[in-house]
Amino acid sequence: MNSKTFKDMKRKEVNSSRMPVYRDAGFELYDALTTENAFRKETEHNREPDLYIYSRYRNPTVVSAEEEIMKLEGSGWALLTQSGMSAIDTALSVFQHGKATRPWMFFTEIYGGTISFVESVLKSRRGLDIQYFAPENQEYDLVKFENEIVVLKPEIVYIETISNPMLIVSDVRNIIAIAKKYGTNVIIDNTFSTPWLCNPLADGADIVIHSATKYFSGHGNLTAGVLCGNDNKIMQSAIEYRKFVGHVLSPDDAYRLQTQIQSFELRFSRQCSNASKLAEYLDRQPLIKTVWFPGLKNHPTHSIAEKLFGNKGFGAMITFDFDGKNKTEKRNRRDRFIELVSEKIKLIPTLGDPHTILMPVEAVWGSKYPEPGMIRLSVGFEEYAELYTTVATALNKLKS
Ligand code: PLP
Repeated sequence: MNSKTFKDMKRKEVNSSRMPVYRDAGFELYDALTTENAFRKETEHNREPDLYIYSRYRNPTVVSAEEEIMKLEGSGWALLTQSGMSAIDTALSVFQHGKATRPWMFFTEIYGGTISFVESVLKSRRGLDIQYFAPENQEYDLVKFENEIVVLKPEIVYIETISNPMLIVSDVRNIIAIAKKYGTNVIIDNTFSTPWLCNPLADGADIVIHSATKYFSGHGNLTAGVLCGNDNKIMQSAIEYRKFVGHVLSPDDAYRLQTQIQSFELRFSRQCSNASKLAEYLDRQPLIKTVWFPGLKNHPTHSIAEKLFGNKGFGAMITFDFDGKNKTEKRNRRDRFIELVSEKIKLIPTLGDPHTILMPVEAVWGSKYPEPGMIRLSVGFEEYAELYTTVATALNKLKS
C-alpha cells in the first residue's frame, strides 16, 4: 500500500514553481485499502483531499487555482466551476432543502441570465417560491427592504454589488446587516466590483460569487465561475452538489485562470482608472445625454459607492446614452459611433476583456432598457491616451 498523500507527492516531483495541469480523469489508488480510505474521506467533502479520486470530485490544478482566489477574496474557501452560472446554481443549491425551503428573494437589478435562470429553472422547473425586490429611482429603499424581510422571512437574499447596465451600487453592508438580523442568508455576485473594491464576506455575506470569465481571467479567453465563503458547512454542501451535477472547472481552464489571475490587481486598478477618466470626459460631451458611472456625482448611487469602495475606484463599466431629436436620430448616432470606433473598440457581448469593448443596450435588453442611443462600455487596460483618442475622434466626427 502506498500511504503517501497527494501533498507529500507533489513536492518532490519537478522543480516547477507552479501546479501543472493534471488532466487525469481518475487518479491511481494503488490497492483496495487505499481506495476504501479515499472514498470514506471523500464523504467529508474537504476542499483539498489527501488523495484525489476523480476529477469531477476534485482536481489538484483546480484546487491550486482556488487558492489564488482565496488570497484575493480573503476567504476560507473557494470553489471553481465551469461558468459564473454554474457557480450561481451551486451557491443556491446549498439553501434548497425540499418542501422546507423558505422563499428566496432576488434583487431585480441583476444579470439578465441570472433572472432567466431564476424564472426558467428555479421557478418553473423546481417550483421554488421566488420573490423580487425592485429599486425605486435606481436606488434600493432599505426601510422597505426590512419591512419585506420581516414578513417574508426569506431563506436567502441575492444581490449584485454593481448592477448591469445601470451600474446601481447596492448598499451591501446595510443589506447584509438587515438580512442577518432576521436569519436570512446573503449571496452576493461581486463580478463587477471584484475584491479590489469590495469584500462582502468581511461584512458577513455567506457566499460571494464571481463570473471568473470576466475580471479574474481578464483576457476573454475562458469561461469559469467561483463561489467563496468562510463557513465549512456551506462549503461541504457546495462541494457535494458540484460533484453530483458535474459543475467543476476543467484543469486546463484552471491552469490558465491561476496564471492570469496573478495580474488581476494590476489590470483591474488600471481599468478602474481608465473608466473614471473616460466617464468624466463623456459626461462633458454635448451629444451624450446621460452617463451612468458610479464615480460621477450625478449617479444615483454615487454616495453609496464612495462609502463602499473608498477611494480605490468605481468599477470599469460605463453606460451612456446618445441624445437626439427622436429615436431614429439617437439610434443613428449609436450605430455610427459603433462603426467609427470599431477598429479599436469591438462589439463583443462580454466584459472584463483587456481592451475596451461595447454593447448596444437596446439590442440586448430590449424592452427593459429601450433607449435606442444607449451603449455599455467595458473599459479595458490599454493606455488611456489610446482609448481617449479613439472615443474623442469618433465623437468629433459625429458632431461634424
Ligand atoms: N454574473 C454576472 C454579473 C454576469 O455579468 C455574468 C455574465 O455576464 C454571469 C454572472 C454569468 O457568468 P458566465 O457567463 O461566466 O456564466
